[in-house]
Amino acid sequence: MKSKNKSISLTIFKNTFLIGTCVYFICAIFMVEKITAYYEDQMFSELEIEASFLRQGINKSGFEFIDGLNERNRITFISPDGTVFYDSQADAQTMENHRDRQEVAQALSEGSGRSTRYSYTMLKKTLNYAERLDDGNIVRVSGQYFSYQAILLGLFQPLLFMFVIALIITGIMASIMTKNIIKPINEIDLENPKINPNYAELQPLLDKIEDANFEHNEREQMRQEFSANVSHELKTPLTSISGFAELMKSGAVDEKTMKDFATDIYKESQRLISLVNDIIKLSKLDEKSIPLSKTKFNLMDAVKKVQNLLQPIADKNGITIGIQGTDAYIFAVPQLIEEMVYNLTENAVKYNKPDGRILISVTRAESNAKQKEIILSVSDTGIGIPQADQNRVFERFYRVDKSHSKEIGGTGLGLSIVKHSADYHDAKIKLESKENEGTKISITFKENT
Ligand code: ADP
Repeated sequence: MKSKNKSISLTIFKNTFLIGTCVYFICAIFMVEKITAYYEDQMFSELEIEASFLRQGINKSGFEFIDGLNERNRITFISPDGTVFYDSQADAQTMENHRDRQEVAQALSEGSGRSTRYSYTMLKKTLNYAERLDDGNIVRVSGQYFSYQAILLGLFQPLLFMFVIALIITGIMASIMTKNIIKPINEIDLENPKINPNYAELQPLLDKIEDANFEHNEREQMRQEFSANVSHELKTPLTSISGFAELMKSGAVDEKTMKDFATDIYKESQRLISLVNDIIKLSKLDEKSIPLSKTKFNLMDAVKKVQNLLQPIADKNGITIGIQGTDAYIFAVPQLIEEMVYNLTENAVKYNKPDGRILISVTRAESNAKQKEIILSVSDTGIGIPQADQNRVFERFYRVDKSHSKEIGGTGLGLSIVKHSADYHDAKIKLESKENEGTKISITFKENT
């Protein structure tokens, strides 16, 4: 694992080194070019001085003047037609016509001319300076000088030495830079990432860590609350069961009481079973590990089914369950949707008043949205939910009236399951309620056409 990680020092070193090397080579090339140009210039000045010296000497003492000279540079005399009539280093007779040589042509027309030529190899360069004499002839002085390439080659060793030094300095600097850059990162307290703000660039990362911490803490708190609630909810019926069983075991109860106790034990264990079932459902919805698949499904079928199941129970209190709307198709897990409708309608029965009414409606929203919406709503004429509790009824184990709710058999998980199922189906929940008047819970699905 570790070997896969990139090293920051190495990355900084590589990049610094690459930039350094580029800058270094650009500088070196530029420097050598400047040196060459400078020395060429110097050389031309020297040749110019020499040519002018020759011109003055010939003006004074005639052409014989050059006989006594021992010149380092090559001297050539050319007549205006280009014929070479004197050369200090070659036989003038054998030399070709020089009229077209750049420096000669320039001197003939402008009075003086310059040219440079590589000689033999690329390493040496010949610099020519030609000047027109008073008698019309041309004097040309030529000197040899190292070429750019030769200077570069000559400077190779010091340049290489400087390069190695630069390499070492880059290495040391990269290591120091890395330490300085990394230090504040290592000082970040992951529990409280914002305590010691350092790099602005790290802010998004620190924000994410803080969000993750917050979420983690919230989840942890919810988990703890849930476990505490579950334990409490399980303990109450278990305590009663154990109490009844203990009394029965002692044999100090008559037959009739025995039957009552057995009924109570049965009721409590039924409660336990439905509680455990709800907890299992919730945790599956939480993990999104529903073993059932979504299909195109008619919401109205679920509504009718629930009405059939609950009407007999509602009848006991004179409550009527009415249905409104048409067939409407959604893409959903039928079992979950049936359970949602069941939970909502069961609540509407449980928290209703005698002779109350319940209306389950399925409507298609004619919104301007591209996708049509299907709204399922269950409204009742029951006791309503106080404003202060409306936000909390979807929480696990939350009940408005603890004692009363338990009496009518609620686990406090029904609406929580509804909410989770709605989330699972990308549906939105809306709750409208007024105390003593009634409650309406609507769920908006996307239509499956
Ligand atoms: P329970 O199993 O207690 O019914 P729920 O999660 O289904 O749990 O509901 C949470 C609480 O919300 C209930 O205890 C009740 O106080 C309140 N409640 C839910 N539905 C209604 C309703 N239709 N009318 C009034 N109160 C309701």
